[in-house]
Amino acid sequence: MTATTSEIARPTRIIVVGGGFSGALTAVNIARLSEYPAHITVVNDGRPVGRGVAYALRRPEYLLNVAARNMSAFPDEPDHFLHWLQTRSEFGSLSEIELRERFIPRQIYGDYLCSIVQHHLQSPGGRTPVSAEFVTSEAVDIEPREPGCVVRLADGSALEADRVILATGNESPSPLPGSESLADHPAWVGNPWQPWEERLAGLDVSTGAGVVILGTGLTAVDIIITLRTMGWLGSIHTVSRHGWFPHAHFRGIEYPEFPPEDLDLATVGLDGLLDLIQHHCAILNERNENPAIIVDKLRPHTQRIWSGFTREERLAFAGKHAARWNVYRHRIAPVLHAQITGSQLTGQLRAHAANIEVLEASRDRILVHLQDRQPLLGHLVINATGPATKFTATRSVLLQNLLRRDLVAPDETNMGVRVDSDHTVVTAGGDRSPWLLALGPQLKGTYWETIAVPELRGQARRVAETVLGSAATRDKHDQLVLEYMI
Ligand SMILES: Cc1cc2nc3c(=O)[nH]c(=O)nc-3n(C[C@H](O)[C@H](O)[C@H](O)COP(=O)(O)OP(=O)(O)OC[C@H]3O[C@@H](n4cnc5c(N)ncnc54)[C@H](O)[C@@H]3O)c2cc1C
Repeated sequence: MTATTSEIARPTRIIVVGGGFSGALTAVNIARLSEYPAHITVVNDGRPVGRGVAYALRRPEYLLNVAARNMSAFPDEPDHFLHWLQTRSEFGSLSEIELRERFIPRQIYGDYLCSIVQHHLQSPGGRTPVSAEFVTSEAVDIEPREPGCVVRLADGSALEADRVILATGNESPSPLPGSESLADHPAWVGNPWQPWEERLAGLDVSTGAGVVILGTGLTAVDIIITLRTMGWLGSIHTVSRHGWFPHAHFRGIEYPEFPPEDLDLATVGLDGLLDLIQHHCAILNERNENPAIIVDKLRPHTQRIWSGFTREERLAFAGKHAARWNVYRHRIAPVLHAQITGSQLTGQLRAHAANIEVLEASRDRILVHLQDRQPLLGHLVINATGPATKFTATRSVLLQNLLRRDLVAPDETNMGVRVDSDHTVVTAGGDRSPWLLALGPQLKGTYWETIAVPELRGQARRVAETVLGSAATRDKHDQLVLEYMI
């Protein structure tokens, strides 16, 4: 692969599109590592830079689904988040051992990310030769310009850049059959990450009002927890093909037998992997141990296994096995799991395993038609089916324009954008882009595991290194540790 146009060796005008964890931490790492003056512009369409969708201020009851010990924003400082938590008065009474295993409110994690952004980008106080600015707008297009490119914003303004980093995060959920005509319906919530809670106030539980949640994953869990927190007394129905909720985190055991030392996981293939998992799950079941240990043990190897899969194996895994993988892999805090189970035991919450056929307005309510099942009637129906995964059907205006211009291309599974191993985007013509890089959930087809902080913090650092070129980076690790200890 070759670069199509001249690549600027020392980029000084850097634009990051997207200000969630991925974009914010890429900008922060550039500021930490750069040895020369540069200017970073973070273009983000609304939320405070750092928080993104997951760590917004919306609801205090949302907890991280990863324990505090593994949520440092920096791969080179594994205890960074713990040290930050120890400065907060509400955790002062906890020992470090207790704090490490805590599932912290996501709002507080957002505070942590904002403090990092402030420290490195908003008031860096001479710690970096890099300056930063934040622009609140939507990036809608990028045009090549020799050298570099021009980023066009929704308000009509334009920004010139030597490098652009795409950190646009997850797609919103796909529309469902019939949902297009419900856009303005009072009972329809097409995007579960927008506020919907105030609509509960208008619903009369005495008339049998019910909430129907489409999906049973992490977003559905958020919604159920909020309904409980708000004292919702009506029924809650969830629908997904399998009807499974995420499992709870648990204390693992030593299981050195897995993965077998003599096995090269990069060449095991899908069938080999499934046989291996089945075999070891059976052993763990016999020992009355939780088979999810296997998923945890595979996690450090997931990207290697995925890169060894053929295109057909990747598609088969995503189509046939991902749902089961996800309930073991994306586990939730035990305290939240207990609340879900509690709602099921009282009969308030019912999970339906069914295919959704079509949604239909019925006065101020919505009928959810299910295959071979009675329809469900929702006074509020929330689409929590998870982010859309077909890249070429993206609803991002920016990504649509980049596809149209052949400046990006889908990866071979069409789950996201195609990148080279250093995160440089590969164009439709098969060339390395001279100015465009990408990270985050848009790399699902390339890495599979590319959604949570433990993977994204490494990506943010690698992207910063690629942008700066390894010769132009400095590792300020010792200095940074000192700064945070003070
Ligand atoms: C509800 C929820 C809970 C989660 N909980 C956890 C957890 O506990 N632990 C964990 O490790 N992971 C969790 N995750 C995974 C989470 O996706 C990652 O941790 C991380 O926050 C992803 O960050 P991101 O920056 O890639 O994407 P996002 O957070 O989606 O940020 C992308 C940002 O880019 C903006 N944007 C997009 N397009 C444009 C454009 N064209 N112009 C300008 N701005 C644009 C978006 O508005 C958004 O602010 C959770 C995810 C969700 C959705």
